[in-house]
Amino acid sequence: MIELSDIHKRFGDLEVLKGVSLRFAEGSVSALVGPSGGGKSTLLRCINLLETPSAGTVRIGDDALTFKQGEKVAWKNMQRLRRQTGMVFQSFQLFPHRTAIENITEGLITVRGWSKEQAKARAMELLQKVGLAHKADAWPATLSGGQQQRVAIARALAPSPRVLLCDEPTSALDPELAEEVVEVLANLAREGTTMVMATHDLRLASRIAQDVAFLDGGSIVEEGPASEVFNRPQRERTKRFLASLA
Ligand code: ATP
Ligand code: MG
Repeated sequence: MIELSDIHKRFGDLEVLKGVSLRFAEGSVSALVGPSGGGKSTLLRCINLLETPSAGTVRIGDDALTFKQGEKVAWKNMQRLRRQTGMVFQSFQLFPHRTAIENITEGLITVRGWSKEQAKARAMELLQKVGLAHKADAWPATLSGGQQQRVAIARALAPSPRVLLCDEPTSALDPELAEEVVEVLANLAREGTTMVMATHDLRLASRIAQDVAFLDGGSIVEEGPASEVFNRPQRERTKRFLASLA
């Protein structure tokens, strides 16, 4: 179980998250949707603590951290929680001077202390899973956007995080390349990978997410099973947003 309780995030005077509480069940896929600037990326970044919440509790499995205004949380504890997450970004963010396989092994070796052999074996297993074993020694610049994103997904999954966080994983890709990434994510979903995904792509969301949270102005407007929120939205705000995309 991943649980966010009353998460607030301020940047100076701007309150970007205004007390968000959400639960994500183990093995489920959840989509965060809503208008631009609503706080989706910030919320994902508060789960893996790329941003420090101004207040609130982040729980991942048995590990929880509570943030309070004006109180510092030990870096070591933040790192322990962060290590239970993997993140996939819109812009892939591969290391350009590392090959596909090195992009995956690097963190396992330097951050997690794996041996080179172990790391290589794990990386090959994941490249296989995303259909790119034949590109292990390719440089990122020689890969298509879809292939780069699949390497990024393999890299994020390599240390077996409890949750895979995806921020607009297909937004930088044209439809055909987006489709190969969606396929990979759909397979991971079928295998029971816990995922939380911010996306503008409602087709992606409705295809792989069981649960949806609609975020606007830093608050959850509506949440529930994807079929309910997409087909029978209760709130006017959600209805307007969905209508604007139709
Ligand atoms: P999009 O759909 O465009 O990706 P989003 O829902 O992901 O939007 P966020 O990127 O989380 O929205 O941004 C929410 C608000 O927080 C915006 O007003 C944004 O300008 C602000 N914001 C985000 N990061 C920072 C930052 N580091 N400093 C100041 N303001 C920020
Ligand atoms: Mg965003």
